[in-house]
Amino acid sequence: MTVKFQDYYEILGVDRNASEKEIKSAYRKLARKWHPDLHPPGEKEKAEEQFKKINEAYEVLKDPEKRKQYDQLGSNWKQGQDFSGFQQGRPDMGGVRFYSSGDFSGGGFEDIFEGGFSDFFRMFFGEGAAAGGGGRGGRSGFTGQGSRQRGQVRGEDVESEIELSLEEAFQGVTRSIRVSGSAVCANCGGTGTAGQGFCAQCGGTGATPEEKTLEVRVPAGVKEGSRIRLKGQGGAGLGQGQKGDLYLKVRLRPHPVFKLKGEDIESEAIIRPDQAVFGDKIPVKTLEGEVNLTIPPNSRSGRKLRLRNKGFPKKGGGRGDQYIRLVIDTPSDMSEEEKNLYRQLHELRKGGE
Ligand SMILES: [Zn+2]
Repeated sequence: MTVKFQDYYEILGVDRNASEKEIKSAYRKLARKWHPDLHPPGEKEKAEEQFKKINEAYEVLKDPEKRKQYDQLGSNWKQGQDFSGFQQGRPDMGGVRFYSSGDFSGGGFEDIFEGGFSDFFRMFFGEGAAAGGGGRGGRSGFTGQGSRQRGQVRGEDVESEIELSLEEAFQGVTRSIRVSGSAVCANCGGTGTAGQGFCAQCGGTGATPEEKTLEVRVPAGVKEGSRIRLKGQGGAGLGQGQKGDLYLKVRLRPHPVFKLKGEDIESEAIIRPDQAVFGDKIPVKTLEGEVNLTIPPNSRSGRKLRLRNKGFPKKGGGRGDQYIRLVIDTPSDMSEEEKNLYRQLHELRKGGE
């Protein structure tokens, strides 16, 4: 049997050492470009041909095991050369079988695979891999190696934002959010196929756009830029691939009183000159309500006082602190008597100079 070598890297237009992400991205782009339903009747056949090739290439390159096997072969391969020579039963091929009619019960080969995979693929990875999941057209009678459906792609991870107040971030909160994503196509159940063709509802992608409301549990102690993962709430898979995840990136609204610096909270306290001179106890806001802060005598403006363990939770346990910066200000509601006393103070200072 002579089989044409398929350069899967070339088909996907990626480098030989492309990352999984690059391969996936290239595949998604090409799969959309060559989707047969997006082409007029005259070009459908060519598109379908391309589409098959792309799917086959991705089937191999997305799977680290298959890719490794393929790369090993590729290194002994000359471009454009024909291929004719696997030894049957190579032990390292794990369950790979070779095509011979009558190898499985029921219909002929073409009947089952409908030409979905190249001879190269079948020879290299065996019929089982090519038949995995029953193939297009829903023939599921054949149970081969590999359970991945052809063209099956995990849905994309989606990132969105969630805006929180500092208190919400500190305490944790449950919030309803609206997200637009994709759902499994109701018409084809996510297979992307209907009868012998592609599903018209979703254009063969297996997914339709969807707006939904999600209840999100935000854990206590999230910060600006924290990411909350919602498993399976991302993009729908292609074929019957798993759904992607939704990541919510935390944005903190500016707070009128508090600033978060690392795990520490910063705030200000305005005090009178007499409090600065003699010291006092004043109520100050913390994330958990008011506490009394002791101002030592002879405090200067700008002095920072620390409230231990009033900050955000720390990674390894414990909490940050709250730093309160003193600002000395004159009272705006002074009585005549107070003014007189300040005047006396003022004269006294002047006289001493
Ligand atoms: Zn559909």
